[in-house]
Amino acid sequence: MDVIAELTSLIGADAVLTAPSDLDAVTEDWRGRYRGPALCLARPANAGQVADVVRCCAKHGVPVLPQGGNTSLCGGAVPSETGPAPVILSLTRLRAIRAIDPVNNTMEVEAGCVLATVQEAAAAAGRLYPVSLGAEGSCQIGGTIATNAGGTSVLRYGNTRENVLGLEVVLADGTVWSGLYGLRKNNTGYDLKHLFIGSEGTLGIITAATLKLHPLPTRHAVAWVGMASPEDALTLLTRVQGRSAARLSAFEMINRLQLDLVAGHVPGRRSPIESEADWHVLIELSDNGSGEALDAELQAILEDAFADGLLSDAALASSEAQRHAMWEVRHSVSEANKKAGVGLTTDCAVPLSAVPAFIAAATAAVRALVPDLPVIVVAHLGDGNVHFIPFFTFDAWEAAASGDRDALAAALRHAVNDEAARLKGTFSAEHGVGRVQLAEMARYKPPAELALMRAVKQALDPQNIFNPGRLLPPG
Ligand code: FAD
Repeated sequence: MDVIAELTSLIGADAVLTAPSDLDAVTEDWRGRYRGPALCLARPANAGQVADVVRCCAKHGVPVLPQGGNTSLCGGAVPSETGPAPVILSLTRLRAIRAIDPVNNTMEVEAGCVLATVQEAAAAAGRLYPVSLGAEGSCQIGGTIATNAGGTSVLRYGNTRENVLGLEVVLADGTVWSGLYGLRKNNTGYDLKHLFIGSEGTLGIITAATLKLHPLPTRHAVAWVGMASPEDALTLLTRVQGRSAARLSAFEMINRLQLDLVAGHVPGRRSPIESEADWHVLIELSDNGSGEALDAELQAILEDAFADGLLSDAALASSEAQRHAMWEVRHSVSEANKKAGVGLTTDCAVPLSAVPAFIAAATAAVRALVPDLPVIVVAHLGDGNVHFIPFFTFDAWEAAASGDRDALAAALRHAVNDEAARLKGTFSAEHGVGRVQLAEMARYKPPAELALMRAVKQALDPQNIFNPGRLLPPG
């Protein structure tokens, strides 16, 4: 029996899809930049069936590519053009919210639950699942764990890694490892869940998770601020931290070009302030206290900053609708950039104090390669993560890269990432490595770290069936 026939007998004909119309959406990435052939799309309904698929693929020597919401920004969730075509294993049917324990502040969910659904279920129980990002309406919990997603609330609540207490994982031999602990303390040897968090589907298939919940904020204050420079934004961040550290839940920064692209390309989005400022910051305070709103606290900080010449314009959201509208602008950046042209997204993080120097140095470095090149900056400033994006309109990309687009893109990425490395930063802060950052892994990762990673991969997936050609560079 061939692999497709055997999979069909294991999980049913309606769960093994081979028609081009079924494969199109899962073999191309969110931006439409990367695609590759798949043998089939397998849609198991539970962890047992995931294990059946893995065992069958291992027997036939066929690679398995786990896929969640397919929102990866680094080509991690779709097949390569070359090499053996994989079985794409979709987690979409594993979407039960198994339990919420508001006393233990945990919830157990299956990997295919959409992130927004998990947030809503937690909120309905009076709790917060804090991981939040622009793709939350379509990315899955399993995908966010596999990539250790960051997003906009890392400065207060940490990355996904800090919000996962336990995992259920299907291993390369088909074993289902049930490590769904809901414990804050558990020193029983190696903490195995951390191997799988951020492993991008190369070590096992995450089928369920125990998530850490937090008190649901009852009060919010959100402001949109126009500023002259990243230096000023950093000074403002330090001031907010000095006065409201416990309530600061987001501090995001974008540059003028990014704001203009959102306003110009995403219907219904416009700048929350009338301002010529080159840099724009979104600040959120939140807590679960009662009484006076937090607005007065944020307003006082902004008034002082204004008096000191730190900011040029600011608007405080005066309603839930305005707060939502400000966040919608911030969450629309990836959609705007996809529609506007070709942005070569980088994913650097540097120490907070080095962010302004990084932005200046990266701008100079890319413009040494392509004079006057527009650059987009989207920064989770509160945690030092800067998406520095050399940007081409579609026409400019055609013209500029008539020679060799891949070489130009690689040179620009290296130019940016070299500056991050020089400032003791990283080239990959939250999106993962996927296939786009493989060359950077080879370039920046110390050989000893790569050797350790290969040893882990060899131990957990000796046949190399999980996501081959991702995360670990050849060699
Ligand atoms: P996929 O894209 O399907 O997969 C991602 C990787 O994880 C792949 O390697 C895949 O093989 C693997 N994988 C998926 N599910 C599993 C599983 N169950 N078990 C094992 N491996 C699995 N990221 C951030 O960190 N911060 C942001 O602010 C952010 N904003 C974004 C905004 C937009 C508009 C978009 C499109 C993406 C954004 N991202 C951001 C990228 C981010 O990595 C993803 O949105 C999300 O974490 C991936 O989830 P997914 O379910 O779509 O996974």
